[in-house]
Amino acid sequence: DSPLLELRDLRTGFALREGYVKAVDGASFSVARGETIGVVGESGCGKSITARTILRIAGTNDSELGGEALFRRRTRDGRPGEVVDLLKLAPNGREIRSIRGAEIAMIFQEPMTAFSPVHTIGNQIIEAIQLHHPVSKDEARATAIDMLRRVEMSNAERRIDAYPHQLSGGMRQRAMIAMALVCRPQLLLADEPTTALDVTTQAQILALIRQLKAELGMSVMMITHDLGVVAETAQNVAVMYLGKVVEYADVRALFHDPKHPYTQALLASIPKLGREAGARLHPVKGMVPSPFNRPRGCPFNTRCPKAMPGVCDVDMPGPTTIKPGHTVSCFLYGAGDTRTEAAQ
Ligand code: SF4
Ligand code: MG
Repeated sequence: DSPLLELRDLRTGFALREGYVKAVDGASFSVARGETIGVVGESGCGKSITARTILRIAGTNDSELGGEALFRRRTRDGRPGEVVDLLKLAPNGREIRSIRGAEIAMIFQEPMTAFSPVHTIGNQIIEAIQLHHPVSKDEARATAIDMLRRVEMSNAERRIDAYPHQLSGGMRQRAMIAMALVCRPQLLLADEPTTALDVTTQAQILALIRQLKAELGMSVMMITHDLGVVAETAQNVAVMYLGKVVEYADVRALFHDPKHPYTQALLASIPKLGREAGARLHPVKGMVPSPFNRPRGCPFNTRCPKAMPGVCDVDMPGPTTIKPGHTVSCFLYGAGDTRTEAAQ
């Protein structure tokens, strides 16, 4: 069974006034049908831009794309269809617009990114439906109410006519998820969807995403800086640092046998279960370097406790396969698996 989405050496760069930024610098991983993949890293590591590049909403006309983002489309009757390279589609052309929202949808940390403040949530969800399906407004409204019920919005018949600002943060998040899922996408890109919420609402929204994923049989790319969210939702995890995937593993291996010093530092930063409230977090030491001023060699060498001078600050380690399904880009495990590179 071929993957739903396969990123091969994905690169996104921006020519800005301050200089050229390699926001995504060679990301390779696949998303299987029905899988949740976690994409983790501190902010500024290229996670959001990776998702936005897939949807072709990464921005500025000056952006340069490289590599491939192979996506298996769905036929009208819901069977696996042809594979398209999303990067080759005309920006804002017909094909990407027929995929965006209908086959790949995105949710954000801040629902007001998705909603206009001057229209009711109902009219916005109805519009999203009618953009892709030739149904009457009444039919679309019935579908919207059904979807709002599925995201457990109480009083959906009444709340559908609310404006975004009339809903609580948690309810707005549910409404955005309803809008994203109403066309039953094959892939949901979830960009920090629970970061702005309190702990209880966060747990509810994660449970909801898990449940809808199972119901709709979709795949999810869960973008987060929070390894707790990954532990609760993902089967496989890509750890990103400065635009690169530095480690890829299944969630068990990642938590129990992390290889990359950056992954190890991220894990050391989460509070242990049972630790007393108020226990100190240990954030990863130092700052993510400016993307305008990338270190030479391994991108992590300026913060890595195991950096080897004369090696790590000179060359870039490539992905090395530790065992099937577990790759790491770090000189501690070799310079890179040419076999893997040749196979890509
Ligand atoms: Fe650290 Fe060197 Fe590995 Fe980079 S390659 S993570 S600097 S040990
Ligand atoms: Mg982000």
